[in-house]
Amino acid sequence: MSDSSTERGSAGFAAQGVVWLVVYVLVAVTPLLVALTADPPPGRSFWVEFSVGLGFVGLAVMGLQFAIVSRFSAVNAPFGLDAVLHYHREISYVAFAMVLAHPAILMVRRPELLELLNPVTAHWAARFGLTSVLALALLIAASVWRKRLGIRYEVWRVTHGLLAVIVIVTALVHIEQAGYYVDGPWKRALWIAMSAVFIALLVNVRLVKPIRLMRRPWEIASVTPERGSAWTVALRPIGHDGVRFLPGQFAWLRVDTSPFSVQEHPFSFSSSAERTDEVTFTIKEAGDWTSTIGSIELGTRAYLDGPFGVFSCDRNEGPRFVFVAGGVGIGPIMSMLRTLADRGDRRPCLLIYGNPTWDGVIYREELDELTERLDLTVVHVLDEAPEGWEGETGFVDRNMLARHLGERPDRARYFMCGPTAMMGAVEDALHELAVPGAHIDFEQFDLV
Ligand SMILES: Cc1cc2nc3c(=O)[nH]c(=O)nc-3n(C[C@H](O)[C@H](O)[C@H](O)COP(=O)(O)OP(=O)(O)OC[C@H]3O[C@@H](n4cnc5c(N)ncnc54)[C@H](O)[C@@H]3O)c2cc1C
Repeated sequence: MSDSSTERGSAGFAAQGVVWLVVYVLVAVTPLLVALTADPPPGRSFWVEFSVGLGFVGLAVMGLQFAIVSRFSAVNAPFGLDAVLHYHREISYVAFAMVLAHPAILMVRRPELLELLNPVTAHWAARFGLTSVLALALLIAASVWRKRLGIRYEVWRVTHGLLAVIVIVTALVHIEQAGYYVDGPWKRALWIAMSAVFIALLVNVRLVKPIRLMRRPWEIASVTPERGSAWTVALRPIGHDGVRFLPGQFAWLRVDTSPFSVQEHPFSFSSSAERTDEVTFTIKEAGDWTSTIGSIELGTRAYLDGPFGVFSCDRNEGPRFVFVAGGVGIGPIMSMLRTLADRGDRRPCLLIYGNPTWDGVIYREELDELTERLDLTVVHVLDEAPEGWEGETGFVDRNMLARHLGERPDRARYFMCGPTAMMGAVEDALHELAVPGAHIDFEQFDLV
């Protein structure tokens, strides 16, 4: 890809991003505008209307959370999944504050309304409202403290989805029950539109998308053991033309289960984006599901939802590339290296690859071969060096980077994938070496 086409591509993503932001803000604030401007019932104070508006905005933002995590490629493309998920997390606190402010303002102005907090004596509108707020508090607490509370990822994910539906449905019923919130035609129209969009999003995620995936099945073509307790899993499309992805992107994988199942895991493509006959993933044994990879039978049905992500040398091009990988973080970087090799790309590439031991270096032999097909230098960094090892050891730090980056480190494009601590340290070191933030990309495997 030429520099000008890359710039056009980046400009396209930036424009797309701006459009989505505008749509998002409009959807989020419209309820407040409608609540404050349309048909104010006689005798209702500004504060009552304002608190109702806040409740509506909180609900709109919560509803938008479904759109945010619905994996619409067009929404994810300009920002990247990790940025989108980060936003999803942070904005939930804002929505929670708004939802809480709604009854709080009403109760401060009319303390007798505190009685509505008693679910035994309260009317149904208040009970539904209370349920919605409690479900939202539970949802946020379980997400923030999942690991500390020892909640398994799969259990958390199902509970998270159920609680989210409860939050929205009970809030919508609360609005309908309260009645006077939807008395004017504008507010009623808004309530109906919000409910309809919410149902459409649910139907899309739980029904339309799985049906679409069902029509594009894959099968396990091979499962090959690699060094470092990892496996290369190859998938072949059945009766369709496969998937086009950018090197470094990822997909959600379901193996031996229906596309309607919630048992799915994200993995980066490790194969060349130039190959269409099959795709591979490099999967490390990290927990209960990934530990069963080695026993998957050939021919087992699988489904792929993707591609997603912005971690790709095709999205952040430059005159040379520096890759920093740790352990299985080599997966998406292998995809980029293999793709560049298949394309006959001769731009200089440097790979700094950290691993605990020499025997655990995934794709060690293939990386050697790639140095023949690419202008590639591989720097292995080990925690435990074998006898006679003269290469790098320890943490990748500023000095180690400075030894290998050569002149003008600011001109290269950097792609990092590995343990969170390693990526943070390398990013800081790169900043010290005057590398602009826009030249550094990373993929985080540990999102939740
Ligand atoms: C964008 C992205 C790309 C990834 N690419 C790779 C890759 O190429 N190779 C690789 O080995 N690993 C990759 N991972 C990590 C991989 O998804 C998890 O290791 C795997 O899902 C663990 O599943 P488990 O049930 O075996 O482990 P568990 O013991 O159940 O979970 C271990 C940890 O993995 C995370 N996790 C578990 N299930 C999921 C899930 N469905 N979605 C997201 N996170 C989950 C949780 O933080 C959990 O605490 C990637 C993760 C992300 C987010």
